[in-house]
Amino acid sequence: MSIGLLEQGVERVQGITGRRVEALAEAGVRTVRDLLHYYPRRYLDRSSVVSIKELRADMTAVTVVGTVVGANTVRGRTGYRFELVLQDQYSQTMKCVWFKSVQWISKRFAKGDQVAFHGRPQRYGGMFSMAHPDFDKLGKDSAALDTGRIIALYPGGAALSSVGLTSRTFRRIIHEFFKENLEALPEPLPSDICEAAALMDGATALRAIHFPENRDELEAAQRRLKFEELFFIQAMLAQMRRRRIVHAGPRLEPPGTQTKQFLAEGLPFELTRAQQAALKDIARDMQTGKQMRRLLQGDVGSGKTVVAVAAMLHALDSGYQSAFMAPTEILAEQHYANLRKYLDPLGVPLRLLVGGLPKAERSRILDDIAEGRTQIAVGTHALIQDDVTFQRLGLAIVDEQHRFGVMQRARMFEMGARPHMLLMTATPIPRSLAMTLYGDLDVSIMKELPAGRRPVRTALRYDKSREQVYGFVRKEIAKGRQCYVVYPLVEESEKMELRDAESGYAELKKIFAPHKVGLIHGRMSRGEKEDTMTLFRRNDFNALVATTVIEVGVDVPNATIMIVEHAERFGLSQLHQLRGRVGRGGEQSYCILMADYKCTHEARKRLQVMVDTNDGFRISEADLKIRGAGDFFGTRQSGLPELKMAELPEDVALLSQARDLAFDLVARDPDLKEPGHAALREHLYAAYGNRGLGLSRIG
Ligand code: ADP
Ligand code: MG
Repeated sequence: MSIGLLEQGVERVQGITGRRVEALAEAGVRTVRDLLHYYPRRYLDRSSVVSIKELRADMTAVTVVGTVVGANTVRGRTGYRFELVLQDQYSQTMKCVWFKSVQWISKRFAKGDQVAFHGRPQRYGGMFSMAHPDFDKLGKDSAALDTGRIIALYPGGAALSSVGLTSRTFRRIIHEFFKENLEALPEPLPSDICEAAALMDGATALRAIHFPENRDELEAAQRRLKFEELFFIQAMLAQMRRRRIVHAGPRLEPPGTQTKQFLAEGLPFELTRAQQAALKDIARDMQTGKQMRRLLQGDVGSGKTVVAVAAMLHALDSGYQSAFMAPTEILAEQHYANLRKYLDPLGVPLRLLVGGLPKAERSRILDDIAEGRTQIAVGTHALIQDDVTFQRLGLAIVDEQHRFGVMQRARMFEMGARPHMLLMTATPIPRSLAMTLYGDLDVSIMKELPAGRRPVRTALRYDKSREQVYGFVRKEIAKGRQCYVVYPLVEESEKMELRDAESGYAELKKIFAPHKVGLIHGRMSRGEKEDTMTLFRRNDFNALVATTVIEVGVDVPNATIMIVEHAERFGLSQLHQLRGRVGRGGEQSYCILMADYKCTHEARKRLQVMVDTNDGFRISEADLKIRGAGDFFGTRQSGLPELKMAELPEDVALLSQARDLAFDLVARDPDLKEPGHAALREHLYAAYGNRGLGLSRIG
């Protein structure tokens, strides 16, 4: 049957054997389905080709087709280069130049070859040239071009072309496959969905993506394939969300004495309206008898921690334990210290479980958790893995949840005891992404900051103003304030980062003397880090030099200045997180971004966004525009399947439509049992079934 066909290995396809199978596997193509969805990266037709006389120096990326009339390896001052001369049909010529892989590339071309080059034209010595252009050898295809056809060009590379898998071979193989099997390809989308979204049918779309008749048909095929990939993800999320409704969770009583006492007397401030509303959502969820799966989204400083405390007390009032998880040990320790401030007066026993504890201590803590002598356990997410058993776990809270992916989350939800889950995040993300990344959750949003906060003032400064900046900091320290100085994480070299921070520390000690300066970084032992943070919190250190270990969650309200060194190396969301370390008390706070004067235009644009706004949502919109969705959405970070065709935020309208239709469908037919949904169920099972989502093959 046809579905089975798609799941079969590519070697099943004629023309694909031996080393080709291996090379394709390298490129992520293992099944027949993968091959059909190995989309062309570019199309060539008369309208997309530019003739050499039309070239201009301000063009960024163009395609030129012609015949190779000259090819030479040339020795230059700095080494060898390969030069090729291309002549187009109007007898105009252009050069292509390679400075790297000269030997390899020189063997690719011979005089007389028909080639399409894609790249950026530059004027050089009275002639246009392209450096390291992308290329496709055309052979007979150039004749096809003259007849007005559209030709698909595939992602290539040395590995594929070395086994003969050029664009031409791909087209031939897929063409042959379609001759035999096109009719038999299944339609995974239910017909009412295709109709509602006015989609081309699946088999036609696949044929047209590889062999488009014309531009209109190609666009319709692209739209259909974008839609289906978004739809499948949404259908999966709808299923995950449905499981919450299906699964029982601890049924709590209404909040009792501990919660009430805490809210009435335990806080030095009034809860904001947003905090109250979030608490109400949570309390309601936990009394339904179904598992809560709620995301609490609130910008940095909106006060998520006390909401978490109240929720844990609510669980405790009904006799349940809570686990409070943070992404880093520093943060876990800080939460522990903070929570004790709130909970010690109520006599609530609390334990901290992090890595590197002495064995005896660790096992004592584990016993306390297992035998119910502690009601609340704080730690990293190791808390819910490993060997930790709770006597009666009712609520698990995950702070800074954006550090965890969708699939990791799915596993947490399915944990043995099925506690209520409260996920907290300060990373505001644009709606288009929230729909996908958090599509399986209920969401409470806290848009309000506690009263009396003054927006942090942000400035962009360069080295030449350094003295002035330090003078300003000294003045603020004299008033009793504190300052962070942060150095970036240098991915390639933790050592370099450390060196930067350490030499900065040595220097600042002199500059700020007699004020005291501390240093904290990831290589320190747990105890050292803890001591340093304690000293800083007590204002024994007036300034703290740090690597990005302090990025998330650290809360010292008296710290009002944040200096970020090499600010141009940070991403926007990271800068926003860092800036969130100040502006947490009533005093005016400042964030000073120190950038390299020579940084790129793009970096400057990014930093300007920080100067212009404190609004996390606007920052993340800007971030998405600058970086593209890939970074947010990549498989690695989000745990979601990579988008091959759709692009965000460009395709957000299509995403919205796919989401509505998918959620509607899962609401009508939760187990996809109707005959018209069988193909969809098969598809979802094949794609996600073994990823811990618990989709069952037979409804
Ligand atoms: P985040 O949401 O970034 O985790 P925190 O929970 O760390 O924020 O809270 C930030 C600071 O605001 C803390 O010092 C906390 O004590 C304080 N805070 C929380 N809620 C309120 C409130 N309703 N009024 C005044 N201050 C508050
Ligand atoms: Mg926090």
